[in-house]
Amino acid sequence: MRRPADVQVVVLMGGLGTRLGGITKQCPKSLVDVCGRPFFDYQLDLLTAWGFKKFVFLIGYRSDMIEEYFGDGSSRGILIKYSQDGEKLLGTGGAVRRALPLLEDDFLLIYGDSFMDIDYAETLYRYEAGKAAGNRALMTVLCNNNRFDKSNVIMDGQKIVLYDKHDPKPEMNYIDYGVCMYERSLFEEFAEDETFDISVIQHELSVKGQLTPQIVTKRFYEIGSPASLAEFSEYVTRRFNEAHPAVFVDRDGVINEIVWNDDIEQLDSPMKISRFKFLPHAADAIREFAQKGYYVFVVTNQPGAAKGKTTLSTLYDINTYMLEMLSKEGANVDDLFMCPHYPNELPTTKEHFLIRKCDCRKPSPGLIYRAMRKYNIDMSRSYMIGDSCTDVQAGAAVGLSTIFIGDIKCDLCKKLGDLAPDMIARDIAEAAQLVSDNG
Ligand SMILES: [Mg+2]
Repeated sequence: MRRPADVQVVVLMGGLGTRLGGITKQCPKSLVDVCGRPFFDYQLDLLTAWGFKKFVFLIGYRSDMIEEYFGDGSSRGILIKYSQDGEKLLGTGGAVRRALPLLEDDFLLIYGDSFMDIDYAETLYRYEAGKAAGNRALMTVLCNNNRFDKSNVIMDGQKIVLYDKHDPKPEMNYIDYGVCMYERSLFEEFAEDETFDISVIQHELSVKGQLTPQIVTKRFYEIGSPASLAEFSEYVTRRFNEAHPAVFVDRDGVINEIVWNDDIEQLDSPMKISRFKFLPHAADAIREFAQKGYYVFVVTNQPGAAKGKTTLSTLYDINTYMLEMLSKEGANVDDLFMCPHYPNELPTTKEHFLIRKCDCRKPSPGLIYRAMRKYNIDMSRSYMIGDSCTDVQAGAAVGLSTIFIGDIKCDLCKKLGDLAPDMIARDIAEAAQLVSDNG
């Protein structure tokens, strides 16, 4: 498995930012001030937190300012190289082609004017899996239905059927999200100093069926216009500059049913999308938490792939399905943190890299710590909701109020001592009521 530290991140930063008018007269888009910090700092923080260390910035307009601000990256513990776009406007593809001498065989490509908070471990895993199946690139896509911009991707289940940004079709339901991974060789086919857009490569790969999708479910932010810049400033203020309480929610047995899996003949977490069944009121409760100003984080142990009962790819698919369905109900989960590990190798294990003594498998509070590193959380007003003792333990370990879903009798509860939850609820709807009553 490729780790973020091994993967080069290429960032397109050469744009002129003409739609921002006066703001970009003085400085490039990636350095536009957002709540006291240059815009790209926020995205760079995200990527370094995932463990990415090697960056190549493709620069043009006011490149002097970018180099001066970010330097060689050593103060952040990373390495930044620069490629100058030159006099001629080369387009996004041409800019990457020009940087080829600096690029490794495979790389992640993002835009310097977008904030894209996705699961980058999933990106690397899916790219690798796609490559093994003969694909040459990965594209992140968001179910859009023309919410943010014109949709440009036709998806059929977990496959990209067509990507075309110049010829919109009514069947297009997804939009290119802005994070991609490529084989370097795709760019070697173009002449140096040829002007072209990356969409040419993406379109061709989609037609050949060689473009791996990663479906993402959270919206992106960009700073292309004064309105979108204001929107991102508001988001930054809420997420980083103010503390808000959170509800950490376990998945199986709280949001969805524990089900009978025919393949493995076991009552367990769902091992495929068709077995995933929402519990009543899950979407209502999540919507209510958000309306009351809580972050909603799903924290879930999923050892099914490590045990060989399913694949990591399917576990990602199931989470994506859940988040997409909830989002359609107006119930937005702010983030999902999954532990896919299991400490012991089993005879059925196939994805051996998942066998690990990790610090994220509940009852360890590692998943909660990950949320705390990414968001500014008021822990004293936050809750953990789960249907296992391990959920209660993980929550208690970091001082959360704990709500156990199920029916432990009160006398038994007392015997649990330190493991006793603070509150007990029949289901997530009742838990939402408790959160509401306790403030
Ligand atoms: Mg559970």
